[in-house]
Amino acid sequence: MKILITVKRVIDFNVKIRVKSDNSGVETANVKMSMNPFDEIAVEEAIRLKEAGIATELVAVSMGTAQSSETIRTALAMGADRGILVETDAELQPLAVAKLLKAIVEKENPGMVIVGKQAIDDDANQTGQMLAALLGWPQGTFASKLEPGDGKATLVREVDDGLQTITVNLPAVISTDLRLNEPRYASLPNIMKAKKKPIDVISPDDLGVDVSPRIETIKVVEPPKREAGEIVADAAALVDKLRNEAKVI
Ligand code: AMP
Repeated sequence: MKILITVKRVIDFNVKIRVKSDNSGVETANVKMSMNPFDEIAVEEAIRLKEAGIATELVAVSMGTAQSSETIRTALAMGADRGILVETDAELQPLAVAKLLKAIVEKENPGMVIVGKQAIDDDANQTGQMLAALLGWPQGTFASKLEPGDGKATLVREVDDGLQTITVNLPAVISTDLRLNEPRYASLPNIMKAKKKPIDVISPDDLGVDVSPRIETIKVVEPPKREAGEIVADAAALVDKLRNEAKVI
């Protein structure tokens, strides 16, 4: 089974985000960028399925500026076989990404697409669901365990009430949750090997997809600064403040 995995280049999760002075978005110039953490989990899961003899070929797909090829290289160094970069300087919203992915899926015919449950920059949590809808495929979202079998995949989902086990018919779109696995680091020899693995570079036009945004961002602002806390002398003083100042008890 061929597996398609999506890898988005986002601001590294350790970076303190700065809002642009014109409030049009967040600063990305000279900021450390990395693979979206949930996508690292997607790559790791696909590699494990290949190591288990279930997957045969792993194709890592990214969409964005030319630098997104670095994110694909990371996936190739972890163990993916080849990459596809849909290169564009346009702002890509989840619907556009889902349409581009649909076009790629129709060319590649994978048995499964594994996406991250959400990108940590837009926090949309939409792409996988939209892709499944556009393809008319089943979706298994927020997987914390994934076991593909004969024409089906069983997955465990973390939901509010506990763990839900479901099966979906393949092909399907799966999205990864945090506890699915712990992604590996790429070893130096694998980083070197990854330099020789192929990356196809195409454009949204090649796929016949209109990626124009459907949602307009009006403004982006810093969250309000938290006010300084106060250390109280003892529990009685705390109860007094909660009762008489905050009036919450
Ligand atoms: P979102 O719906 O934006 O929260 O993204 C959910 C998942 O879709 C991400 O974790 C990625 O796996 C995938 N995805 C979204 N945008 C892109 C992109 N530009 N390139 C590659 N994958 C993406």
